[in-house]
Parts: sequence; C-alpha cells; structure tokens
Amino acid sequence: MNQSLWLIFSCSMLFCSGIFAEDQASKNLPYSPSLNPASMDLGADPCENFYRYSCGGWIENNPIPADQSRTSTYGKLYVDNQRYLWGILQELSGEKEGRSDTQKMIGDYFAACMNLELIDEKGAGPMQVELQSIHSMQSSSDLGKTIGLLISHTDSSSFFFGIGSQQDAKQSEIMIGAVHAAGLGLPDRDYYLAQDDKKKENREKYVEHVAAMFRLLGQTESEATKSSATVMRIETALAGASLTRVERRDPHKTYNRNSMQELEALVPAIDWAALFEKTSLAPEPWLNIVQPAFMQELQALIERESLDDIKTYLKWGLVNSRADLLSAPFRDQDFTFYSAYLRGIDKQKPRWRTCVSMVDKQLGEALGQEFVERNFPPEVREQVLTMSDQIKQVMSERIDQLAWMSTGTREQAQKKLATVRDKIGYPDQWRDYSSIRIDRDSYFANVSRATDFDLRRQLGRIGKPVDLDEWFMTPATVNAYYNPSMNDINFPAGVLMPPLYDPKMDDAPNYGNTGGTIGHELVHGFDDEGRKYDGDGNLRDWWTEDDVSGFEEGAQCIRDQYAGYRVIDDIFINSELTAGEDIADLGGVVLAWHAWKKETASQDLQPADGLTPEQRFFVGFAQWACAAERPESLRLHAATDPHSPPKYRINGVTVNMPEFGKAFACNADAAMVKAEEDVCKIW
Ligand SMILES: [Zn+2]
Repeated sequence: MNQSLWLIFSCSMLFCSGIFAEDQASKNLPYSPSLNPASMDLGADPCENFYRYSCGGWIENNPIPADQSRTSTYGKLYVDNQRYLWGILQELSGEKEGRSDTQKMIGDYFAACMNLELIDEKGAGPMQVELQSIHSMQSSSDLGKTIGLLISHTDSSSFFFGIGSQQDAKQSEIMIGAVHAAGLGLPDRDYYLAQDDKKKENREKYVEHVAAMFRLLGQTESEATKSSATVMRIETALAGASLTRVERRDPHKTYNRNSMQELEALVPAIDWAALFEKTSLAPEPWLNIVQPAFMQELQALIERESLDDIKTYLKWGLVNSRADLLSAPFRDQDFTFYSAYLRGIDKQKPRWRTCVSMVDKQLGEALGQEFVERNFPPEVREQVLTMSDQIKQVMSERIDQLAWMSTGTREQAQKKLATVRDKIGYPDQWRDYSSIRIDRDSYFANVSRATDFDLRRQLGRIGKPVDLDEWFMTPATVNAYYNPSMNDINFPAGVLMPPLYDPKMDDAPNYGNTGGTIGHELVHGFDDEGRKYDGDGNLRDWWTEDDVSGFEEGAQCIRDQYAGYRVIDDIFINSELTAGEDIADLGGVVLAWHAWKKETASQDLQPADGLTPEQRFFVGFAQWACAAERPESLRLHAATDPHSPPKYRINGVTVNMPEFGKAFACNADAAMVKAEEDVCKIW
C-alpha cells in the first residue's frame, strides 16, 4: 500500500470488495464461467446500453451485502479466494504437530488475530510504548527520533510524511530512499479544502470522530473537542500544501533528487539523522523528496505549532492507524466513521475476513505459496504467456502503422514494447519472513514486528541493485499492474482464475476478458503517464513535439468523452484523473480483439448461448466489470479512484470500437455507436 504512494504504478484493473454468502471456510473454490448468460439482461438493447445488456442479470442477482460498499465480479472472486484462504489458515492455526515453520508462522498469526477476547481485554494497552514515546518528547527536536519509532512500529504514512525506497526514476538501476507527503486522516486533500456542502459535512463528522477517539483514550469531553480541532487545523495545513491527485500523475512533479544535506536544509525542524538511525534508512547516494512544497509547509507548521499540539497530532496518527488492532470500542468507532458514514456500509465484516486480509498483507508470500500450490496449474501460466506474446505482437504491428508517430519515436516505442517483461502467477523466489517473531497471544505486537520487518526490508534495498523479480501484489490478489520503472506487467494467480480466465471456456470470452486485461496493463506503458518512461524504465523525453501532439489528440478525445459521464448527482468523472486508465481500457480491448482474430483466423467458429463468436468476445469482456456500488462509495471513488465507474469502463470502450456496432448490427444513430470521425483512437 505504501509503495503506491510514490512508486507510480499504473496499477490495477480493479478494486477489492465483494460479498460473503454463507459464513464458513471453504475447501474448494466455487466455479463460475467467464461468460454467463444468466448474468445478462436480454431485455436490454445492447446498442443502447451494452453494460446493462451484459451485466443486468448479474446486478439483479448480486445485491450489495450489508458489510460491503460495493460488489463486483472481481470483488466476489476476491471474497471466494479469501474464504478459501480462511480454510487453509483455520487448519494451520491449530497448535498441532507437522506444520512447517512457515505454516506455523501464518497459522499462529491468524490465531492471534482471531482471538478477540484477548484483544478486547487489552483495550488500548498494547499502544503504551508508542504513546509513551510521544508523551516523553521534551521539545520538537525529539521529533525525528519519535517519528522514527512510530513509523517502524505502525505504518509509514500516518505522521506528517512517509519514508521508503524506490527505483530512481531517471536511473532505474539504482534503488534510492524517498520521503513523501502523507499524514491525512481523510481520503484526499480535497476533503479538507473543497467548499461544497457534502465536503463540509464530511469535515464536521470527521471532527466528531476524532474527538470520540480521544475520549476513548481517556480525555474529557472538552479536552477531546480541543484535540480534535488541533488535528483538523494541522491536517488542513498539510492538505493545502499537498499536490492534487491529478498533479501526482505527472512523474516529473514527483521526482526531486536531493542530498541528505538538502533535506536537512529544507526541514531543519526534524532531526533526520535520528529518524534514519531509528529506521535504518541510509539515504545514499541521494533521495527523492516527492513533494518539496509540502516539506516546506511542514517546517513552517512545526515552527508555529506548540509541542503539545504536535503531540496531539501524533497521538491521533497512532490511534487512527492502529484502531483496527485495539479493543471493540476503538474498532466500532473506526467503523462508524470510515465504513458506515464515508462508504455507506451497514455492518462490520466478519472477523475472519479482517484476519485473512492481514495475513495476506503482512505475510502474503508465505500464504501465497499455499494458495499457488493448490490452485495455479503450470499450464495456465503457459497459456497466459502465449496470449501476452500475441497481444504484444499485435501492438507492435499497430505501432508500425500509426500515422501520427515519427520514425525515430516508433523505433524507441518498439524497443520499449520488446523489453516489457511478463510476471505471471507468483514470484520465482519466495520472500523469507523467518526473522519475524510471531506469538499466539499478542496480535498487536505481531503486526508491529511484521511492519518493522517490511520497512527494514524496503529500506535495506537502498544502494543495492534493483530486484526485478520483486512483486508488489501477493499471489491471491485479484488485480494486476504495470510498473513503469521495471517495465513489466504483473498478473497474480488470483486474477487468472474463473470467472476471469476460464480454461473451460472458448477463446472469445477469454480474449475479451483476460486478453483485454493483458492489453490494458501493456498499454499503461504507453498511456499519458507511462509513455514518459523509456524501455529501461527511465523517465526521459523520447518523444518529438509532433509525436506528443499526435498522441495528445487521441488522449484529449478520450478525456472529453469521459468528462461527459455522470457518476452520481452532480458529480461527473474527473477525466484528468482517470485518463491513464481510460486509455488503457480502450487500447487493451482493441489489442485483445485483433489478437483473438489472428488466433482464430483459420477456425470455423460457431455461435453458442445464442451469441455469435464476436458477440461472445464483447460480452466476455463486459462481464469482468459487472458491479454495483453504494452512493456514498461512488462519491468517495469519484474523488480518489483513477478508474472510471464500471459502466463507463465498458460502454466508454465499445462506443469507440466499430467492430462492436457491427457485431450487434447496431443502427448508426444508436447510443453505442459513434460516427467514424468521432471515434477516439490512440494505439
Ligand atoms: Zn490500470
């Protein structure tokens, strides 16, 4: 999670949410086909609303569960995988003989997490070491040491700023340290700054929530009210100095190579040497200050705020980041604001889901081994690799035909495409967690030690060669990503299973679905952000001005189209934020379509389920995105999610594919058909 704050991953086909049906661990993964006629709404006209036609039945059959903010094809598979992992962990959590060291570790971690009785008994007690380190600060010169301790015990984003490592954006073979802006409790800077009624209400509720948490920590009503106002004042100042999400999509804005001395000069109020000593960060040979203006404001803020108020802010960061690990009153209050109010969720998710997620988050490659052994046959890896090769081949042919691209840029684009690496299923080398101490009776301490392990692992890479085999998603994850610095596409085993990749199904829906996803990730290397990196993963201008304007014409066409789509009430898509994903969505399916056509050119394809092969391609594509979402959650995602809502990720793509109109014999004036000259096209 912290990685993505400064590593510019164009990650993810989707998000995670889902449903739980009957609440029991599962020994088997349920099968659902990648093209399911029962998920369609045959009463809808595909030429007017293709998403409704493909997913109407699914939406009727899958009401949003009370403990979820949204549900989707991806989300349901995610919960199925979680339930399956629950089965594994339940078995391994028993204190019996015969468990390997790794199995004992994940089993004991899970057992400690599930032991709510003990967790509830301890109240806020487990935070004493961290609270004490805040209390004992004598002056702001202790800030470096204190934040260093808090970061290594909790997570690196709750106290003003975060630290980590990354590939140098302009020298991709070097790992460097990074300091990035963080420290906000609301989902985005705009929540502090926007003046509309809804955001004002969000702020009022947030202030109430912060006060409630301080009361749980033992403050009186009036102390808690004052503390809450302090937190709001400090976070608002930080928000005002933070880049917007759209600005953060420009990798040039977030790359600022500095020496340690320059960081010390920028924020002398922090004792950086003490902080780095505490966290074992060696900022050599230089580091990236992701947002210098933010750090400047941080310096001013520390100068003008009192020590007591800074302590209040740190206490809030601590309890907010750890609420999930504390007793019921903390967990309930956290749910009331972040889940019930901000996302419209009615009911807390069952404990097992929290605990499976935490094992996956902290010991994910240990749990992933168990998952892969049981669920990911080697032939799927081979099939997906073949599909990826075909899609790259199609992209290469299309690059050669692009009218707007000059010869020199074309050559470099081909070179970049040829060097994209595929990572499929799981890492070749599993991470070794054996140095983490895991106890069955101290969940909080387990999480702290695993957090510390991960921070040191990340920081330990600084100055060492880049590990190109590293994964930033765990094997059971239902998602995929492209990493511009490594120039690779990554598909965890979890995203290569039915109903997404379905070995039992014909090619058409598989190319529409998984083929489209492979194309999507590949095109991220060439979207409005990814195109700024070359084949070696370096941020470098390799485009001529004419090439840029040729590209921009297509990109602007897509931005204009998506800006006209309404999300909810008066909120429209912020297509400056979603442009990269929208470009990847369109390009991905176009590439998959041509790869499928080539693959099946000599075959005599027959209709099935009342659909022609071409129609099966498109319905298979659309059904990856079947979803429903609560209004509160739609609002939240409109402000924070770089993906467009599912409906537009389908209809926004097919409207730009004349092959679609032909497949469904749509009239020229149908909603899902554009005049030829209006079709958006890049790759
Ligand atoms: Zn994407």
